[in-house]
Amino acid sequence: MSTDAFDVSIERCPAYQQDSVERAIASAAEKAGFPSIDGKTILVKPNILNASAPEKAVTTHPVFLAAILRFLREKGAGRIIVGDSPGFQPGSSAGKTAGLYQVALDVNAEWNEFKQGSLHQAPAGKLVKSFVLADVLETCDMVVNLPKLKTHRLMNYTGAMKNLFGLIPGLAKSAMHLRYPDKEQFGTMLVDLALSVVPTFTFMDAIVAMEGEGPGNGTPYPLGLVLASASMPLIDWTAASIIGYKPEKIPYLADAMQRIGKNPENPEYSCGPESVQTVRAENFKLLPYEMAHPSALKALPGFLQKLAVSATMRRPIFHEKKCIGCSACVKICPGKALVLDRKASGINKILIDDAACITCFCCHEVCPVNAISAGKVLHRPRRDRKLP
Ligand code: SF4
Ligand code: SF4
Repeated sequence: MSTDAFDVSIERCPAYQQDSVERAIASAAEKAGFPSIDGKTILVKPNILNASAPEKAVTTHPVFLAAILRFLREKGAGRIIVGDSPGFQPGSSAGKTAGLYQVALDVNAEWNEFKQGSLHQAPAGKLVKSFVLADVLETCDMVVNLPKLKTHRLMNYTGAMKNLFGLIPGLAKSAMHLRYPDKEQFGTMLVDLALSVVPTFTFMDAIVAMEGEGPGNGTPYPLGLVLASASMPLIDWTAASIIGYKPEKIPYLADAMQRIGKNPENPEYSCGPESVQTVRAENFKLLPYEMAHPSALKALPGFLQKLAVSATMRRPIFHEKKCIGCSACVKICPGKALVLDRKASGINKILIDDAACITCFCCHEVCPVNAISAGKVLHRPRRDRKLP
């Protein structure tokens, strides 16, 4: 890496127009010190959360992926593998809807479904010292990480580090939610995972970002930016700041900064040619900083705990008028808290066992029709409850 490179490069790029995206990526790469990859095997990891059309801003845009793949070819990459593992769908079928699968084939890249896992060591992990990750990772010299900048119902913000959670094959991701239901622990695990994947270089698709009910049901926000960095904590910190968060209030971002030796109260690093101040988004709809998880309330007596949870925690709320009965939420739910009740009237009703729900919002993430919102539930009507 060039010594005068920026820690994070921020380039303007107003639209998914092929030439301008290619220019922005090449410039961002150079200014952030993209390394030599001559003859190397590269794993390209877009964000394919689910089968969504590109204009919904749920997934990395196909024009962005195409520009990256051309860039990697020009830089002399030997073998290029593209893949992801959405929660409950094969990567290729979600990738086809997102327009990404065909793009990979067009430049003779290989597609990998991340079906098989193998043990990956994370010796510096605080909480997790080894993960089962897509086995293809072990055959690659470098990961080129292509997150989409989005809000996230559980973690507030999702970008570079969270995107690597997709290296965990299929529904094993749900098991991680169950194992680390506490938001802070889950965040620590995410940082353990992300920092164990080296070397990684991130190009963030922030040309159209997602605000509001991210990561699956928010609103596209034309931000007009491409970010690049060899550091995931720094690029995430920068992106979260651009959209208006105080990143020090997002525990996993603060944790990651501390682990790379930066003070979250006043981190020193370089951005260019633009800065956070020159590109800051206006009126970007953020999700509120989350309150404590039930585990943090364990010291309270039972009835107070219940009251505190009802008064402070947001829970999933299911809207039967919107539900199309696809069962995606039921299948992905780590707590097995949901059942689909198909009524003779044609109405699809999702019943929930609040005692089994760990408020991970995986259901919210995968619902294709925005039929799940989040809110405080003081009393769930009996007709909406899943009975044990
Ligand atoms: S109901 Fe939704 S939020 Fe609750 S555990 Fe299941 S997937 Fe997570
Ligand atoms: S709530 Fe959403 S994810 Fe669940 S069954 Fe209905 S449409 Fe599918």
